[in-house]
Amino acid sequence: MEGKRLGGRYQLQKRIGGGGMAIVYKATDLVLNRTVAVKVLRSQFGTDEDFVQRFRREAQAVASLSHPNVVSVYDVGQEDDTYYMVMEYIEGSNLKDVINEHGALPIPEAVRIALEICDALDHAHQNQIIHRDIKPQNILIGKNGRVKVTDFGIARAVTSATITHTGSVLGSVHYFSPEQARGGVTAEKSDIYSLGIVLYEMVTGQLPFSGDSPITVALKHLQEPLPEPRQINPDIPQSVENIILKALVKDPHLRYGSAKEMLMDLKTCLAPERINEEKIRFSVDDEETRVIPAITPEMLAQYQGGKQSHTTDQEEQLPTGRARWWTKALAWAGTVSLFVVLSAIGIIYVLNYFDVPEVNVPLVTGTQLSRALEKLEEAELKANIIEQHHPEEKGTVYKQDPAPPMRLKKNNTVTLYVSKGPQQVSMPDLTGQNGSVAEQQLKREQYKEVIIEEREHDEVPAGHVIKQTPLPSTMVVPAETTVTLYVSKGKKYAIMPNLIGKMLAQAKIELYEAGLKDGKIEEQASYEVQEPNIVLSTYPYEPGMEVPSGTEVPLVVSSGQYPAEAKVGTYPILIDVPDGEEVDVRIVLSDARGDNQVVVKEKIAQPREYALSIVLSPDKDATIEVFKNGVSDQKHHIAYENLP
Ligand code: ATP
Ligand code: MG
Repeated sequence: MEGKRLGGRYQLQKRIGGGGMAIVYKATDLVLNRTVAVKVLRSQFGTDEDFVQRFRREAQAVASLSHPNVVSVYDVGQEDDTYYMVMEYIEGSNLKDVINEHGALPIPEAVRIALEICDALDHAHQNQIIHRDIKPQNILIGKNGRVKVTDFGIARAVTSATITHTGSVLGSVHYFSPEQARGGVTAEKSDIYSLGIVLYEMVTGQLPFSGDSPITVALKHLQEPLPEPRQINPDIPQSVENIILKALVKDPHLRYGSAKEMLMDLKTCLAPERINEEKIRFSVDDEETRVIPAITPEMLAQYQGGKQSHTTDQEEQLPTGRARWWTKALAWAGTVSLFVVLSAIGIIYVLNYFDVPEVNVPLVTGTQLSRALEKLEEAELKANIIEQHHPEEKGTVYKQDPAPPMRLKKNNTVTLYVSKGPQQVSMPDLTGQNGSVAEQQLKREQYKEVIIEEREHDEVPAGHVIKQTPLPSTMVVPAETTVTLYVSKGKKYAIMPNLIGKMLAQAKIELYEAGLKDGKIEEQASYEVQEPNIVLSTYPYEPGMEVPSGTEVPLVVSSGQYPAEAKVGTYPILIDVPDGEEVDVRIVLSDARGDNQVVVKEKIAQPREYALSIVLSPDKDATIEVFKNGVSDQKHHIAYENLP
């Protein structure tokens, strides 16, 4: 595709990316003389009528959006079976690459990016366009840091039928809302959920739900409680965690009502007075019962208590209207009485509360736990201790909640976050792996430094890790560990393989396997070899020679033609056979292609004429010798000069 021109005006330059559905190229719009990005539908979709129609319709709808955080769509077009979309070109990278490279982002940066995405969603939602595929791959970060959302509505064009065409579309399942995962209707709130996952990933550096298969991941979105962001990264302010929790409630009714609502929340969440706000809570009951995907016989059995041992087919069906009526009534009665009790407790609590004097919360961050506890006791406050791995020395309080200048009622609790020391992990075993892959893995896991030392090695192939320090399984703190990878440069000397007579492709492979490279390739006409691309010479390197590793070996290969001065012809040979006899015929030909070629060897019972093909060169005439029953019978000599 590169170098092709589409619609007479978009000159494709180079491929910049590709997902399951399309390939994206950097291109020049020759009419407006500007750089654009052209998204070309993969050919398997180009033949799907339905899909193409939806693709065009959606692209046109998106073209109507105009917002600083939305990648502008300039044009959609078709050339033969190729469908394409022309967009604003964003120089920079996508958010997935940023996260993969740096891990979790600084909180203010993550909030800003989420805010800009949310602004784009708000604009689109107001125009009745739902994105449906919010994921970091679709968030582009320009060189200036501007956030641009791409692929609005395109996901709609991908039906479940087309999803099966490609593994990569399924990659999105990590960002699918429970209702999307269940295959239900997707609306504005699904985009909010997906944005919640993106924000989660930005502040923790991890995905909340992952698994071996798309189905596992989808089920987790539906059923598993969210691993709380602050458990992973305690530096996340409560206000930011609250936004994530509210965007990721499984029940869409409990989620933010609109992108606008989430936007307002994002705008103020880093204000000092909000940072330590109360943790948001959703009634677990509400959450869990509402999102159960479907009722299974096992679940039903649980509801029916002991009866499950003799369930009949009938009992396995859904509860009848009547059964539901009385369970509901019971639930209501329960809820109402619980409410009454709770309110009573609440009133008593509130009344007491106003009686208790307030004290200043002492500053204990940075002290040892024992000292912190003493200080709290002096202030007549209680402590709640949470131990977590932290770069701070073991036993140090690295954070407290609340902190001065807050005041608390006496006997209230201050949460102390105490360091268990930096997190130690077992050093992975990287020996035998590709050196640059191993290096990237270590960088992703935030090791302090990776040093690559190149060494010659006779067994470990070039580019692979020979050994490492620290050794595998050593317990280390990545942020404090410098890893040295000893990467093989291959053997010092390679043994030149015998490539004569081999196909060029095969010869190249053998060179690489031996630790050599293919050098200049030259074609040459040949009398001996009639097939093209057969190696004729590796001069000056001979098979078996010791050659410095990495040497570029020049290859002379056959062109598949005879040299220009060759003369090619046929020569008739007549063999006589006496009546009723059988003769063993052998014809031996020597010509420019080689000496003593046995061109005929068979038994014949009748006279026969052979037309032998011969090739002559200026220094090689042809000779033909015919043997009958092993005895020389005829000899011919054809001179180069005598052939036309
Ligand atoms: P999917 O096909 O599910 O949308 P995807 O988002 O990974 O998966 P594409 O949308 O085809 O795949 O985009 C591939 C990559 O091309 C993006 O991740 C991004 O890096 C790059 N890209 C897409 N659009 C642009 C653009 N307008 N300007 C610059 N780069 C872009
Ligand atoms: Mg995309």
